[in-house]
Amino acid sequence: MTNVHEKVVELAKRRGIFWPSYEIYGGVAGLYDLGPIGLRIKNKIVRLWRKFFIEDNDDMVVEIETPLVTPSRVLEASGHVENFTDPIVECKKCGRVFRADHLVEEALKINAEGLKPEDLTRLIREHDLKCPVDGGELGEVRLFNLLFRTQIGPYSSSVGYLRPETAQGMFTSFKRVYETFRQRLPLGIAQVGRVARNEISPRQGLIRMREFSIMEVEFFIDPESGESPPFERVKGERLKVLTASEKEKGGSPSEFDVEELVTERIVVNPWMAYWMAVASRFVKALGIKDFYFEEKLPHERAHYSRQTFDQIVLVKGEKVEISGHAYRGDYDLNRHSSFSGEDLSVFRKYEQPKVVKRKSVVVNKEALNKEGKDFVKEFMSRLTKMSPEEVEEALRRGETIDGRPIANYVTIAEREEKVHGEKFIPHVVEPSFGVERSLYLAILNAYSERKDRTLLLLPKEIAPYQVAVFPLLEREPLISKAKAIYERLRTEFETIYDDSGSIGRRYARVDEIGVPYSVTVDPQSLEDNTVTIRDRDTWNQVRVKEEDLITALRKLLYDNARLESVGIPVSGTHE
Ligand code: AMP
Repeated sequence: MTNVHEKVVELAKRRGIFWPSYEIYGGVAGLYDLGPIGLRIKNKIVRLWRKFFIEDNDDMVVEIETPLVTPSRVLEASGHVENFTDPIVECKKCGRVFRADHLVEEALKINAEGLKPEDLTRLIREHDLKCPVDGGELGEVRLFNLLFRTQIGPYSSSVGYLRPETAQGMFTSFKRVYETFRQRLPLGIAQVGRVARNEISPRQGLIRMREFSIMEVEFFIDPESGESPPFERVKGERLKVLTASEKEKGGSPSEFDVEELVTERIVVNPWMAYWMAVASRFVKALGIKDFYFEEKLPHERAHYSRQTFDQIVLVKGEKVEISGHAYRGDYDLNRHSSFSGEDLSVFRKYEQPKVVKRKSVVVNKEALNKEGKDFVKEFMSRLTKMSPEEVEEALRRGETIDGRPIANYVTIAEREEKVHGEKFIPHVVEPSFGVERSLYLAILNAYSERKDRTLLLLPKEIAPYQVAVFPLLEREPLISKAKAIYERLRTEFETIYDDSGSIGRRYARVDEIGVPYSVTVDPQSLEDNTVTIRDRDTWNQVRVKEEDLITALRKLLYDNARLESVGIPVSGTHE
């Protein structure tokens, strides 16, 4: 862990943001509790995501909720039972197990993502890599499945798994949502929910957990519809992208307009560009400015993906994937169609009906009825297994049954038919964010120090509270007045009240959890009904009339007004 991670983890525990779960029993790696402050921030991040991905696109996207427990068959169809694996290697001396690709990456400083177990074993042998803990010899690399297995009900044959992504719930209920919602594409089905992945080596706070929440959209499209995404909704968004070919050359990301990603054929489908632009706006709203999209090389991609971009953020000198953008094609619905036997295709209506020639087989019943029963039975059983085209071919070849030419009993008729459309399996574009990872990265990004003090410079939209109210001193009548103001403010803003300890300690506490504004009642307030508003980021203060307080806070919180524009500056520092 670098220093800043340690500091964030320490702050998180101290201020009720997050801490290891089951701590009194020693904790379990990769499992975390969110505390009262952490959960407030998390809920706001989810709210913001819902705004960007669902509400702003609610003509196309709806939200559903599906179970965590998933029958084996569903994850066999999705390919997870077979493919949701990571390579592991065990130390023969201490028995510790490591993620083999990460071990190789760290030791050799190469990219080992997606390498096969035999290639990783070869690299370990060639470079004589040893156990990073005790220098013991390493065994053969093998694949470990990350699904948590369980049993559904009392029958051990009823195998289930905890879902590793919410996506399968959207695929298995696609038909129902399609039929009940709008019966046309594009259609996005969104979900926010818990998932579980039995990660081999959880790390750094909330970055790699074993149980976490995910925010996903499965966006179903007709790949042949020329319909363009509503790019005007993401106008002006410029995206930094590292393409697969640039990456192979060791190049760096280039900047593109959203629509350029389509015209330059960087994305395989225009909707990839659209959702990447929405993701870009969302990540900026978390306060993170430095990020780019990195295309995965074919061998790095998940089994279902035809193209994937990871959104990589750079925070405090670290590069971390915050979201994944996959073009899943028709993989999922096709697999679920064939595993479940349900037709998951939809109907594509042609603009103009097409006239097609259809062949049909006409049986000459009169001729056939003159034959014996056994022959008729044999004849019909063969005929029903053949398509009109196969019967036509048989006629051309002069085929016989029991020595009798089939031409005696059937002819081929051709007629014209109007066809109004055709069935097809929708394709899927998937933007997927981890909630706790987003929370952690937003906090890491907001983490700041000034004069030996810690501040969380969180954007106002995701701060756990909007306003704090304090009496300057822990005594009456300042306390009563502050409490009265608190009661008024809390009807409109998310407000916290604190009257314990010195004012400096109270400012420090709210700075540490990122509350953007503090309102203080001081002796002057008792004389002239004014209060001060203090800005978390600058520690500057202004004095405002009590009756103008709500308007001033609205301007600060919602209109991005400058502190000095809502009151009279108070000199001095307000630490
Ligand atoms: P993936 O389906 O692997 O592309 O994951 C989608 C998103 O979930 C990632 O971009 C991360 O933000 C998040 N994520 C994936 N694995 C974990 C994990 N083990 N712990 C926390 N977040 C994760």
